Amino acid sequence: MKELQAFVEALGEKKYRAAQLFSWMYSKGAESFDEMTDISKEFREVLASSARLDTVKLGRKSVSPTDGTTKFLFQLNDGLMIESVLIPAPDPDSTVEEEDETDANPPADKRLTLCVSTQVGCPLDCKFCATGTMGFLRNLTAGEIVDQVLQAQRFADRRITNLVYMGMGEPMLNYDDVMKSIDIITDDRSLNIGFRHVTVSTAGYADRIRQMADEGRKVKLALSLHSLDSEKRTQLMPITKKFSVETLIEALEYYYRKTHRRPTFEYIPFEGYNDTDEDVKRFVRLSKRIPCKVNIIPFHSIAFTGISGFGATLRPSPRDQMERFAQALRKANITVMIRGSSGEDIEAACGQLAVEEGKKRKSRQTPRTRRADS
Ligand code: SAH
Repeated sequence: MKELQAFVEALGEKKYRAAQLFSWMYSKGAESFDEMTDISKEFREVLASSARLDTVKLGRKSVSPTDGTTKFLFQLNDGLMIESVLIPAPDPDSTVEEEDETDANPPADKRLTLCVSTQVGCPLDCKFCATGTMGFLRNLTAGEIVDQVLQAQRFADRRITNLVYMGMGEPMLNYDDVMKSIDIITDDRSLNIGFRHVTVSTAGYADRIRQMADEGRKVKLALSLHSLDSEKRTQLMPITKKFSVETLIEALEYYYRKTHRRPTFEYIPFEGYNDTDEDVKRFVRLSKRIPCKVNIIPFHSIAFTGISGFGATLRPSPRDQMERFAQALRKANITVMIRGSSGEDIEAACGQLAVEEGKKRKSRQTPRTRRADS
């Protein structure tokens, strides 16, 4: 809001205009300045010539015939593409029993969760992730993050109740704009989504986890863990070289002490790699230090990216092994949810649609490169 106030003042208007603009943009969802009827025509014209409302344009979308999950491909003003996923129910971060649910998560049939992107591409190079294969192109602005919500809401014609920062990119590497987008989305003059209905998922930036705890936005935190074995996690997620598993766990303990929000651990079981009894034991030890919720995510193959090396050797655990793993954790009183295959039929895993679209465009633009590649 402060930035908006500075912006209207720079255009020679009174501060209160910022509140009007804020409400038109984020509460009433105006698509043009002309709709802002309590603002003078002259100022609307000034606004139209100095600013734009839309930052992302809806491109392709695909709706899953099985569960209604909708994947949006958005084009940014510079032509780059990102994706968001709208999930009717349940919230992929919700678990059956929630400790802090004075929370009142909306009932499943009223829940509408959006998974937003925070970067175009990602620099982290996690070996199982499609977005990682694109490399890093740029950070999204807070406006581009919020606009994904506004546009998805317009499309759904229903209020989005839950938000997960689990789309393309690493939220902690775009910290300021991600936090700014959270401040806008949770503002009661805007979309008014409660902090407890917002989840930020990170590959593991311990310093930012602590900063978030100190800043007091009590959002839910999810850590993409995938292994508690340092060596294996480093192989899967090179970021572990910077922040070790132990450093991450300490940061999560700190976050839990400050916010009383139980962290969620995201875990993709890979056959014979991180789904063994030894991995269960590690989790049990961890649960003695910090109350855990584990979200088991079935691996979506990224073979279509043409990946080679270690990543190409990863296989999803078979369903029965995944169930056994989950059962063993539950026996130790760990809350476990196995994520449904939401949107599997529409390529809804991180980065899949955007990477495919990027490939298609490239092949349209540079057929010679394609021949050289194939
Ligand atoms: N960078 C953030 C958010 C983006 S990834 C993070 O790492 O948490 C969102 C989630 O999707 C993460 O838990 C990630 O591990 C998971 N993911 C990425 N690629 C996947 C794939 N191919 N199959 C299943 N889950 C995947």
